Amino acid sequence: MLVPISDYRLRQREYLLRIARAMTSRLDLSDLLQLVIDEAGELLSAEAGLIALRRPDGGHLQVYTSFGLDQELLELFSPLLDGEFFERLVQEGGWMTADLSLRLQVASSALGVRLRQLVALPLVVGQEPLGMIYVFRASSSPVFSANDRQVLADFADQAAIAVHNAQLYQRLRSEKRHLNTIIEYSADGVLILDGQWRVQTANEALERMLEWPREEILDRTCAELFDLHDAEGRPICQDACPLQQQGCSDHPYVEGVLRTPSGRQVHVGISYTVLRDAQGRLREAIANVRDITQQKEAEELQSTFISIISHELKTPVAIIKGYAGTLRREDAQWDLQTLRQGLQVIEEESDRLDQLITNLLEASRIQSGGLSLNPAPIQIVGLVEKLVDGFRMQTDKHDFELDFPADFPPLWIDFERIRMVLSNLLANAVKYSPEGGTIRLGGWVELERAVLYVADEGIGLPQSEIPHVFDRFYRVDNRLSRTTAGAGLGLYLSRSIVTAHGGEMWVRSRPGEGSTFYFSLPLREGAA
Ligand code: ADP
Repeated sequence: MLVPISDYRLRQREYLLRIARAMTSRLDLSDLLQLVIDEAGELLSAEAGLIALRRPDGGHLQVYTSFGLDQELLELFSPLLDGEFFERLVQEGGWMTADLSLRLQVASSALGVRLRQLVALPLVVGQEPLGMIYVFRASSSPVFSANDRQVLADFADQAAIAVHNAQLYQRLRSEKRHLNTIIEYSADGVLILDGQWRVQTANEALERMLEWPREEILDRTCAELFDLHDAEGRPICQDACPLQQQGCSDHPYVEGVLRTPSGRQVHVGISYTVLRDAQGRLREAIANVRDITQQKEAEELQSTFISIISHELKTPVAIIKGYAGTLRREDAQWDLQTLRQGLQVIEEESDRLDQLITNLLEASRIQSGGLSLNPAPIQIVGLVEKLVDGFRMQTDKHDFELDFPADFPPLWIDFERIRMVLSNLLANAVKYSPEGGTIRLGGWVELERAVLYVADEGIGLPQSEIPHVFDRFYRVDNRLSRTTAGAGLGLYLSRSIVTAHGGEMWVRSRPGEGSTFYFSLPLREGAA
């Protein structure tokens, strides 16, 4: 019996208004569909019902909610979910009863109620069919009046609008979730700024880059985070930012350096996308912040490499060429001593070139991870004495002392490489103690390792330089380093060789008091 729609129009309207309000206030799709199917069931005094919506691909329908029918019974009515059947039904305005008598009978016996009538209410918004409400009734009478049909059609229209809204809302939420995931897990830092350049959104990569917790980042102005300027020197994000002026690019790119709370320097490249309102005022800006520190370091390294290498290669070549040219002059007669001296310089400069080329090759081997060792047990002390004798011949300003215990054990090392370490350290000790002094080379054994050291009484190192002296191509900028030859590779190579042996290298130094470079080597065979 169609009780609620049988009598008064007024009550009908009130009912429709109430249900429309209830439906449109629900944005959760499954909640809403439950309400719709309950109301449809009540409205039509139905025994069972279901709501099927079109799949997102636009083909068949899919049951979203039902009452009075369990899963197996639902399957009986799969023809109702057919895409073409649905299209036809919508075109004919619903109401049509599908030829489902056999299926209705099966469902009836399962439900213990005879189902006689199937009412189909299409859910259509504009021209877009969303799905269908199917309601099964025990009674096949009365035949619906025009008014009944109108009420049911109004009900279905309201339901369709509410379903459409809920679907839009659902899609919006899922897209927002999707977008949030993309922003949150982007490898670059992402910031969304409001019209006052205040941070509204910041992602995890940005937190990591700035070393600030997100609560500290949000609501700050962009200028508080980045004190950066564009190519013309204008601040890139401030209230009176040039971006807000007409004619400014809406996609500016700036690079700059930030200092994080832990003291790390981060080179960042920021690309902005500026969104404006109709009057050209800033509405929102999206900033993509990329950590370009490694790229900058590589660029810097490359230019340092080129300038140092060209200088370091050119100097000995110029000296060799100068001496060779002078000595071969046909109009000059050189005495034996001058000839010897000239040839000695040529030999020394050739050695220097050879050393530099070897260092460069070693450095590139280390870079590509190709440094291989040929270790063997070596009684180092005798070999070290020979090395020091070689240095004694080169300087008369310095005294050399050896300081090894008599029982210093053999070490499992690649001696050619460790010799390179020691000669780098000894050469530096000579180079960086221009006033002379004592240079001590010694070692001792502790726990599982041997420690060797080279100490000088030279110019020493400021504390601030100590962390950098083992970097590739790093040279402390002082008067002495400007006048002495060097490519800033010696300590880098030495430390890499020691590390490849499984040891460590470090330095203690004070300006004006000299430096001591230490390195350890494991005593156990194969520890390298
Ligand atoms: P190079 O001597 O070719 O410049 P190194 O890698 O051997 O390169 O050394 C890097 C820098 O460390 C040097 O430029 C120098 O400023 C500093 N340094 C190295 N050894 C000493 C030392 N014994 N005393 C003072 N400074 C040193």
